[in-house]
Amino acid sequence: MRNRIAAAVTAGYPHETCGLLIGRQGVRAVEVLDSLQAANLNQERPGDRYELDPKAMLAADRDARSRGLEIVGVWHSHPDHPAEPSETDREAAWEGWSYLIVSVARDGINAIRSWRLDGGQFYEEDMAL
Ligand SMILES: [Zn+2]
Repeated sequence: MRNRIAAAVTAGYPHETCGLLIGRQGVRAVEVLDSLQAANLNQERPGDRYELDPKAMLAADRDARSRGLEIVGVWHSHPDHPAEPSETDREAAWEGWSYLIVSVARDGINAIRSWRLDGGQFYEEDMAL
C-alpha cells in the first residue's frame, strides 16, 4: 500500500495527488487495509491544493461497505513541502479520519506522516501501512 501511494504521488509530481484510505477503526489504532487514488479536481492550484473527486469518495464508500470496511481517511501529497498539514488541510479535515501526507520532491518521497484532528488541532499518529 505504501508503495502504491508512493508510486501515485511520484507520478503526479509536481501536482498534488490524493486518494482514500480504506480499513477499520481499531481499538488502539486505525487499521488501513486498502487505498485508492482519486482525481484532484482542483485546476487553479493543483500544485498546492487538492479537491478530492466526490464521485470517487462515493464509489470508495460503497466498495468499502460491501467488504465490511469503511473509509478511514484521506491521503494526499505535498510537492516540495513538508509532510505536515496546512491551514487549508485543517479547515477541510474531519475528526475521526486519518490524514496521511506524503512529502514528495523531484527526486522522490521525503516523508510519509499521518495526522488526526482532535479539538481543531492536528496530532501525529502512528500508522502501519
Ligand atoms: Zn495538504
